[in-house]
Amino acid sequence: MGYAIAEAALDIGHDVILISGPANLVPPRKAKFISVSTSDEMFETVRQHAGRADVCVLCAAVADYKPSRVSPVKIKKRADEISLELIRTRDILESLGRQRNRKFLLVGFAAETDHLEANATKKLREKNCDIIVANDAFIGMESDENELLILFRNGETKKISRAPKKILARELVKIFSNSEEKCLTKKM
Ligand code: C5P
Repeated sequence: MGYAIAEAALDIGHDVILISGPANLVPPRKAKFISVSTSDEMFETVRQHAGRADVCVLCAAVADYKPSRVSPVKIKKRADEISLELIRTRDILESLGRQRNRKFLLVGFAAETDHLEANATKKLREKNCDIIVANDAFIGMESDENELLILFRNGETKKISRAPKKILARELVKIFSNSEEKCLTKKM
């Protein structure tokens, strides 16, 4: 969805910085594209650029855990079974939500396999976002189509029925632009 949202925002004249992990997609030509390969690089890069943005959309499926140690050399085969110790990665969305006096609209995503609305509402509150875009993980993954439930900070919700991601991205960009304008009016 990130690449489709970037494309839709560029189409209506916004400047876009697209920060992406490894993906089998061609970035839109007019976007400033920054490629990262680890959750820590994503964390640092997003934090570096967020302050200058009007809207931050965090829709990358960043890993929740990473190996606790990284071996500088090849790990030799020995036992039949080995266990990897994993530790939590830093949550980028949550860290932006915690910023005091942030000026940008903060949008997170929630792909859920169950209790979509309840889990997404919890995420909206816990990560202190302005908008959460929720979808059923079984519909959206590895597919060109998706179906969305959008939750707003003020408790409003909006459903967008199943459509190609390109169409959904256009709808989302309109919603983000309207919400951003409302936020700005409130702050003025
Ligand atoms: O808690 P969960 O990972 O399901 O939340 C998904 C949202 O959190 C997405 O917007 C995703 O981009 C963001 N996220 C993040 N940093 C992480 C993991 C997820 O910003 N380490």
